[in-house]
Amino acid sequence: MRGALPYVAATLVGLGLFAMPFVQYGFGGGHSHAAGPHSDHGARHGGHLLMLHDYHVELVEHRDSVELYLSDAFRRPLRPVSCEVTFDGRPPTPCEWRSHRSVVPKPIDAKSGLYQVSVDDGPPLTLKFP
Ligand SMILES: [Zn+2]
Repeated sequence: MRGALPYVAATLVGLGLFAMPFVQYGFGGGHSHAAGPHSDHGARHGGHLLMLHDYHVELVEHRDSVELYLSDAFRRPLRPVSCEVTFDGRPPTPCEWRSHRSVVPKPIDAKSGLYQVSVDDGPPLTLKFP
């Protein structure tokens, strides 16, 4: 960390959020229509919104599946280039693209998932949930 320039401060804010990716809802004014990046951290599908790098993933857990909604900094929906989930160290399960979200079958006794998502022109996204 080199100095106190404004853009460095902005980077530090980003790193702080990166270190704590479990952003629930309402952070930064979820219903704002002023479309700045990261001005909307609302969960739109009743799930959990996570942020990683400049992307957002909302995970909606069901009994035997998980829906994954990927979006960019402005919450514009994205289709992942690839997506797979490792539940409790089992072999990875690929996601299936359905309309506007990815869906992955989940063992009903799964305790935790390791989500690995790749996007165009972006870093690989790896997140563990819960
Ligand atoms: Zn964000």
